[in-house]
Amino acid sequence: MTTTLDTKLDGVVGGKTATPMERGLGLRTVGDLVRHYPRRLAQRGELTPLNRLQIGEDVTVVAEVQSAMRQGRHPKVRLEVVVGDGRNTLQLVFFGPKQLWRDKQLVPGVQGLFSGKVGKFKKTWQLAHPEYVLLDGSDDDGGRLTRPYIPIYPATKEIRSWQIAKAVRQVFALLDPLPDPLPAEIRARRGLIDIDTALHTIHDPDDYGQWVEARKRLVWDEAFTVQLTLAQRRVVAAANPAVPRPPRADGLLARFDAQLPFRLTAGQREVGDTLAEELARPHPMHRLLQGEVGSGKTVVALRAMLQVVDAGGQAALLAPTEVLAAQHARTIEQLLGPLAQGGLLGGADDGTRVALLTGSLPAAARKRALLDAASGAAGIVVGTHALIQDQVSFAELGLVVVDEQHRFGVEQRDALRSKAVQPPHLLVMTATPIPRTVAMTVFGDLETSVLSELPAGRSPISTSVVPVATKPAWLDRAWQRIHEEVAAGHQAYVVCPRIGDDGPDDELDDGPDGDAPPDDETSARRPPLAVLDVLEALRSGPLAGLRLDVLHGRMTPDEKDRVMSGFSAGTIDVLVATTVVEVGVDVPNATVMTVMDADRFGVSQLHQLRGRIGRGSAPGVCLLVTDAPDDTPARERLAAVAATTDGFELARLDVQQRREGDVLGSAQSGRRSQLKLLSLLRDEDVIVAARAEATDLVAADPELAGHPGLAEQVADLIADERAEYLDKA
Ligand code: ADP
Ligand code: MG
Repeated sequence: MTTTLDTKLDGVVGGKTATPMERGLGLRTVGDLVRHYPRRLAQRGELTPLNRLQIGEDVTVVAEVQSAMRQGRHPKVRLEVVVGDGRNTLQLVFFGPKQLWRDKQLVPGVQGLFSGKVGKFKKTWQLAHPEYVLLDGSDDDGGRLTRPYIPIYPATKEIRSWQIAKAVRQVFALLDPLPDPLPAEIRARRGLIDIDTALHTIHDPDDYGQWVEARKRLVWDEAFTVQLTLAQRRVVAAANPAVPRPPRADGLLARFDAQLPFRLTAGQREVGDTLAEELARPHPMHRLLQGEVGSGKTVVALRAMLQVVDAGGQAALLAPTEVLAAQHARTIEQLLGPLAQGGLLGGADDGTRVALLTGSLPAAARKRALLDAASGAAGIVVGTHALIQDQVSFAELGLVVVDEQHRFGVEQRDALRSKAVQPPHLLVMTATPIPRTVAMTVFGDLETSVLSELPAGRSPISTSVVPVATKPAWLDRAWQRIHEEVAAGHQAYVVCPRIGDDGPDDELDDGPDGDAPPDDETSARRPPLAVLDVLEALRSGPLAGLRLDVLHGRMTPDEKDRVMSGFSAGTIDVLVATTVVEVGVDVPNATVMTVMDADRFGVSQLHQLRGRIGRGSAPGVCLLVTDAPDDTPARERLAAVAATTDGFELARLDVQQRREGDVLGSAQSGRRSQLKLLSLLRDEDVIVAARAEATDLVAADPELAGHPGLAEQVADLIADERAEYLDKA
């Protein structure tokens, strides 16, 4: 039987190796293994710097034995081996009399690969019972260890880097040269090596230059496959018919504009014109509207919705949380005034109606909303994921608006769009500024507009870090500040990372995936502060006498509504909340936000959170409370958030600090397993070039009929994306 990329690994490398590779690393086939690239290369004779190890991390290091000493008394003897990189040292400990023989092997001067979990005992960095192979030739396996570079793979406790290296060699020994799916012209134009060479040399280069070339080719493939997928989606979308929804001179939109209490900003007008023109076309609009927090996206969306209603269609507005959906419905009804009372006494004759549809409405309200959507009585239907469900139907869905896109997947978007007879127009809004490369990949099937200016009269937000470890008095000052603001007639938020009543936390169900700081930074610490605990502590302590209440994701819709209305109306002074207040919540009178355990939040999330204040005429103050020590990455992140209110700058920082898969977010997390080397930040040039090549290729051959290998890559990417989606759903 010939070995192909689809061959199962156990037949090739044996079950003893294949089982832990599948269990720990998800590698099932030869293709999976071949694409399990080394994390880095260790050069023979060059040792791994030992000063960057992190406690709890599973590492593989190349180091040199400096000493080996037997310690303790039988039977509690142990062997302590010190290895070093020439500057720093690391201790290896082996406990028990049966381990002592190792000092025959681990003699000073010998170099080896050592794998294990990093720990610290007293002040000494350690690996307890590491596994190792020595580079003295004694463990050599087919001459491998005389190669100039040693690949260091992502590995586990059950399957070590050198075992993976061996499996890779076994696989390549059986594999025929792979045909190259990439057209030769593109390869030549982009200066890329062929795929077979690339896959071999990424694992085992003769020199560093080869490895760089291999990476270049493989990075290209990742970018190109994504761009082919998106180019095909754009072609399909552009060919779809849609009902044109041209503006009407005497409709609801015109009357709405006439009654608006403020002047639209230049940006709002400009984007509005673009939308008006695209809605009038016979093909569906596909537009992403990015706008800083508070830039007034809701009004822009509402104007587009009214144009569609004027043209006989309905608009659906999809929001990520119930709080936000309810608020949108309320805001829209307020902005519309009598225009939202269609068919009701006192309403405008030709007005429309706004329906709210969320997952946990009481049965009667739900029935009414469903009916209004299905009959067309509601021109505007606002809701959460509940809108996507099967029972929900529309009389004439013409426009889908998705607010805060990063929480919705393409499939969910598609599911909603499928409720229209013809594909509806689509407007996606996000307040998380998206670097260009991310826009071109994650949102690559959308055209982009940006609202950059904020409406006039906005106040600045000043942000400070409150380091409780070194400056405990600052926290007292923070509570004092809330008293002062409340005394001046304002309100405050206190945000905590957790709810604290043993149930699941908000972050788990409606937090944006991947916006949290890296795990290794937060594990092994006290649990994050919880809303319910903090509420009690504040009530009986520093904020005694103020009117406090809570908001979190697991309150019932009625409770949430009551609290949000109370906070809007000013009958609550301080709202202690989870990140449910992160997006869209709009109470202009709130001027202070204190974020507890701020280091537990991601950069973009903090930026979003702080967008809840400074929405009125009074300046806003945001206090980031943390017990993270000085000079840690966590503190650097907070300092960066404090230093700028430019969302784009923070977004870049965020991309830098997060793993690539996470950047793609829950929206398109399926690409995580496919995008291994592509960096949205570093590889901007590659992404731009890949987009251009992909667009041309798909224009000439929309089905990729002439490029079956590429078509297969695209199919794999899509299958992977769907699998992830199904996993999550
Ligand atoms: P975001 O873009 O963050 O969703 P919103 O749409 O919630 O922002 O708008 C924030 C606030 O600004 C709302 O209270 C809204 O009514 C107000 N607003 C929007 N456009 C303008 C404008 N042109 N002038 C003044 N206020 C505006
Ligand atoms: Mg908004």
